Amino acid sequence: APVVVWFRNDLRLDDNPALDAAARSGAPIVALYVLDDDSAGDWRMGAASRWWLHHSLASLAADLARLGVALTLRRGRAEFVLEALIAETRASGVYWNRLYEPWAMRRDSEIKANTRAKGLAVESFNAALLFEPAHLRNKQGDVFKVFSPFWRACLATGGPPAPLSPPKKLKAAPAPQSEALDDWRLLPTKPDWATGLRAAWTPGEKAARKRLADFASGPVRDYKVARDFMAEAGVSRLSPHLHFGEVSPRRVWAEIMGAAGDVGLPFLRELGWREFCHHLLVANPHMPERALDGRFSDFPWRDDPAALVAWQKGRTGYPLVDAAMRELWRTGYMHNRARMVAASFLVKHLLIPWHAGESWFWDTLVDADLANNSGGWQWVAGCGADAAPYFRVFNPVLQGEKFDPEGAYVRRHVPELARLEARWIHRPWEAPADVLRKAGVTLGKTYPAPIVDHAEARARALAAFDEVKGT
Ligand code: FAD
Repeated sequence: APVVVWFRNDLRLDDNPALDAAARSGAPIVALYVLDDDSAGDWRMGAASRWWLHHSLASLAADLARLGVALTLRRGRAEFVLEALIAETRASGVYWNRLYEPWAMRRDSEIKANTRAKGLAVESFNAALLFEPAHLRNKQGDVFKVFSPFWRACLATGGPPAPLSPPKKLKAAPAPQSEALDDWRLLPTKPDWATGLRAAWTPGEKAARKRLADFASGPVRDYKVARDFMAEAGVSRLSPHLHFGEVSPRRVWAEIMGAAGDVGLPFLRELGWREFCHHLLVANPHMPERALDGRFSDFPWRDDPAALVAWQKGRTGYPLVDAAMRELWRTGYMHNRARMVAASFLVKHLLIPWHAGESWFWDTLVDADLANNSGGWQWVAGCGADAAPYFRVFNPVLQGEKFDPEGAYVRRHVPELARLEARWIHRPWEAPADVLRKAGVTLGKTYPAPIVDHAEARARALAAFDEVKGT
């Protein structure tokens, strides 16, 4: 009898323990992907992620086809889809790699119990993380709440297990009927907002591995310093590939250590933050919705729809924030430092709840990831575990001058400021009138005047924090 390999965010052949175990079992394989929006509820994939998913599935289907296996696509509640497919194929078991989103963990443990109760084999594996969350505990036996000791404990394990090689051969079962990928309408039609995404990215395992190899062969050595400079290619841009599982974190670890040894550790430490966010999410399933720091449940947020739209559209009048938000809209990605500054601007300068930013990112990021996104927002808002203290308010002007000193990042994404001298590019409202005129900038007309004053906004944010601080 065949076995089903249920692909999820592990859209690769390399270091895929579920596929590997199914191949080793000797049974013919049915490969399945389920688009299960019902179970995901509020956290169903956003628009940019859907664009990515379409291309990633096409790439996986082609790679599987080369090994003679068809990828079966079905839509609906996974438990019903799986039940029907098992009946159709008379499968004897199901293999999958684990997900760590709370909704998926709930769903999968039910499916596991029900399927086993029918006498079928169910095997699940860790393919998404370096270390299984249940296995890492502090000396008191609790989940780590602070990153540094967490990371020390990760390193003390001696590193994750070595990655598995991709299967050379697969035995295919007769392919069940599949839905057509195009019928899922994962791509935008009118308007087609994906032009910038297409220019910036190539989804799929092959492209993921090339990006990793390119990064490991050079940039990783300068990462420690270069990672903060927003206009430079100092970061790996592996995040969407990692989110969709086109490359495994164990493969990343092995290649970086192989190419750079300990020089690669500052980079692997960031992969550690991904790990930390996932472990936190498993321990705190409400993390995407509720502040981990209970004091923030009564925080005096403001309701300001006009300011929210200005932020979303990159029209706040702060060049760095606007460049960041426009990079996001155009390419589905935002540099990490820009994420911190733009997110901080929303929650501190505008006092708009972090959830509003979290859901905008969720819809527009190609790397939208429940653990990293909610972890990142709670970190910036100062309400998470091991978060930035609330009173530390990022200054978008100084951040720009420090980490985009020539203004190249702003020029790339905010063309109406492209001709402004570097000296003024992060503070156009202070530029002399003739400088603005020469650069073709009229504040309030060609480019917005700041929607809030930094010093006033900072004072307002600190006063709001004072209200909850002692509670
Ligand atoms: P690199 O610097 O090359 O890092 C390598 C990998 O490590 C990344 O691909 C990512 O998987 C992981 N990583 C790096 N930094 C972090 C971090 N701070 N937290 C968690 N993982 C990290 N990351 C996402 O993958 N999805 C999100 O939805 C997301 N939302 C965020 C929201 C906010 C408000 C903030 C401040 C950060 C968010 N991040 C998110 C984390 C981080 O900004 C991105 O992972 C990173 O910018 C991706 O670019 P890169 O692959 O070039 O990173």
